[in-house]
Amino acid sequence: MRLQDRVAIVTGGGQGIGEGICLELAREGAKVAVVDVVLENAEKVARAIVDAGGEAIGLKADVSNKAEAEKMVADTVARFGRLDILVNNAGINRDALFEKMTEEEWDAVINVNLKGPFLCAQAALPEMRKNKYGRVINFSSKGGAAGNVGQVNYSASKMGVIGMTRSLAKEFGRYAAKDGADFTCNAIMPGFFETPMSAKIPDKIKEGFITQIPLGRTAQPTEMGKVIAFLASPDASYITGTAVGVDGGFFMGVQC
Ligand code: NAP
Repeated sequence: MRLQDRVAIVTGGGQGIGEGICLELAREGAKVAVVDVVLENAEKVARAIVDAGGEAIGLKADVSNKAEAEKMVADTVARFGRLDILVNNAGINRDALFEKMTEEEWDAVINVNLKGPFLCAQAALPEMRKNKYGRVINFSSKGGAAGNVGQVNYSASKMGVIGMTRSLAKEFGRYAAKDGADFTCNAIMPGFFETPMSAKIPDKIKEGFITQIPLGRTAQPTEMGKVIAFLASPDASYITGTAVGVDGGFFMGVQC
């Protein structure tokens, strides 16, 4: 129970990797605000946590909307009294070859994947500073960093997340020096997880990917949950500004 009495927000928590993270943080004792654009999915995950004896609420918010990001934080604090952990997991893709990609496809992906974490972290920070404890964990992508045909928008957003994470980690370091706070910011670079997002990949391409993964398999969302629980806990107090690959070795040569 490394997260006893901690309060966490997980965006995109209604399914996929986010769901796995919510369940694992709750198992470690955190009170969890499960946030998603689809309220029914958020509430379903929150209910599963409560049924298992934990504490959770489901909230609807679009992370790319400043007012909704602020309300998400306000509602969480109103329910649980504090906020310690923000997992910026929500993400989308809108793939198209570069020559055909529309401005709308570019904007949609940048707004959710890059501006979303910015808005949510900005809304969350004042509450975390009150506790002198903060964990901001941003979702990047190993495949995004490697570059992909049809994903200039997705790759740009996910590499942007790395830059934002490093700058935030440096700013957060100042709070430690100034008032002894335990504040970190890290990025996560998943490889291939079994989720509704990756289910869109055709079987033949998926089989080709698996042959390139040293561990010889894809990953399940709960495996990500365990990594996030560690990073969110006091045990990870000296890890900041890092991009943690969780990819079974799939992209071990990719620099970022
Ligand atoms: P997923 O199955 O599509 O789940 C993402 C969740 O985020 C969905 O519930 C989605 O809602 C929600 N969401 C979308 N836009 C949102 C918004 N504006 N505000 C709030 N919630 C929003 O995706 P996943 O595979 O679990 O991926 C989670 C994260 O890991 C993403 O950032 C993704 O880029 C990254 N990632 C995943 C993989 C992988 O192998 N799966 C690999 C590399 C990186 P709806 O879909 O219902 O609208």
